Amino acid sequence: MNKQLPIKPLYIDGRYQQAHSTKHIEVISPLDLSVVGLVPDSSEEDVNDAVQSALDALESWKQTDLSTRIEKSEKFIEYLQDHQDEIAETIHQELGCPIEFARESQIAGYIKELKDLLNRVSGYSFYEEKEGYHLQKDAIGVIACITPWNYPLGQITKKIIPALLMGNTTILKPSSQTPLTAYWVAEAIDHAGFPKGVFNLITGSGSTMGELLSNHSDINMITFTGSTEVGTEVASTALKSMKRIAMELGGKSASILLKGADLDQALTKTCDTVFFNSGQTCSALTRLFVPTSMKKAVENALKEKVKGYKVGENMGPVQSENQFETVKSYVDKGLKEGATLLVGKVPTNRFIEPIIFTDVENSMTIAREEIFGPVLSVITYDKVDEAIEMANDSKYGLSGAVFGPEKEAFEVAKQLRTGNVFVNTKNKSLNVPFGGYKYSGIGRENGLEGLEEFIEIKALIVQE
Ligand code: NAP
Ligand code: MG
Repeated sequence: MNKQLPIKPLYIDGRYQQAHSTKHIEVISPLDLSVVGLVPDSSEEDVNDAVQSALDALESWKQTDLSTRIEKSEKFIEYLQDHQDEIAETIHQELGCPIEFARESQIAGYIKELKDLLNRVSGYSFYEEKEGYHLQKDAIGVIACITPWNYPLGQITKKIIPALLMGNTTILKPSSQTPLTAYWVAEAIDHAGFPKGVFNLITGSGSTMGELLSNHSDINMITFTGSTEVGTEVASTALKSMKRIAMELGGKSASILLKGADLDQALTKTCDTVFFNSGQTCSALTRLFVPTSMKKAVENALKEKVKGYKVGENMGPVQSENQFETVKSYVDKGLKEGATLLVGKVPTNRFIEPIIFTDVENSMTIAREEIFGPVLSVITYDKVDEAIEMANDSKYGLSGAVFGPEKEAFEVAKQLRTGNVFVNTKNKSLNVPFGGYKYSGIGRENGLEGLEEFIEIKALIVQE
């Protein structure tokens, strides 16, 4: 272990300060298992300081004009843009993904999205006159944001900026596995000149911090992105004090290939989501449904397509030894339950090359549980209705895709019980509302729908 590394401070009340807690967490790089940073394992006192700071800042932040908030957000984005290379290096170190992927998909894409959001929000009205009543849109208050490690920058900015734009103040608790990227957010906030206290960064172990934040009487909302298991726990605690909750949770999304689909487009989209970021993407299309008559053709095309994804080139290791063990155990289970390995092998370390199972039944564990690794399952169907039924036969409902003749593909897409469905496209649109049906979550992020998760609506009833 590198004993020279200093323990990072927390960012509270507009300045960096040492934590009260003397405990710390080691940030381990999946690239070589070296310690790349030390962050405080915050105590209750630290959490209370952060909450107090957010509370103190709330009233005056609520009074600011939207134009001021937009202006600060623009400066925030500029800072991220000016430091893209350094941020990409941090993400590469703590998450393990290649630098190029970090730059493009972990930073540039989110910057574009934030810029687009600022365009959309300008002109947003916090007051509307309706027939017989007026609507006032109020900030919710102090919002705690708990984020995962797989997109360590974007998962933070897509909470913090909308929450601030709507007049709330925030406390961020990033994942302990990738907390270093969060310090770039603190830097960007600091440089953008946001008033002190509107953003606070505390680090620490999820179970301790989560409990303190979900129970805290001065926090009005918890927005959480992470696993369904932890999200359920956080939500139930938060609801005891009737906090607003927004939950972005796990997925097991389906990609449905219809007869007549553009095979290359369908397989590119599906494989990109499953193999880039080593499959550590909540919206990955991990179940590929193909007509039985096309099984051989799809298998052959997949064997070719998969040559475009390689660890050390455009893929990195999975984020932790734990993640490797999890992926390995799922691959073992897949084999035990009768699936066939079309591509890849049982992984032996965290540098996991693409794995594709075929002969998968939708009832098998690998088709039901989120693996969060580069593992794709091919499942055959005879009738399109069966494909829809199997796609929907999942506890999750986050994303999905349908490829095939336009009209038919659209009809199928309408029947999927998921928050997003891509229809004959491999491109992402900016600021489309994103979120889950069923166990994939509660609420939406992105776009106007995402912004409005961060407001209370008041009706003022007036004499007609
Ligand atoms: P996770 O284990 O659920 O952790 C998410 C966050 O919760 C981390 O900050 C974690 O802190 C914290 N946490 C852990 N235990 C907690 C507790 N008992 N109470 C409160 N907070 C707690 O998820 P992850 O492993 O970081 O991320 C992977 C999961 O996120 C996958 O399931 C993926 O599908 C999901 N995800 C969903 C979306 C979406 O938009 N729907 C996007 C990305 C990821 P520590 O790191 O300190 O434990
Ligand atoms: Mg976890």
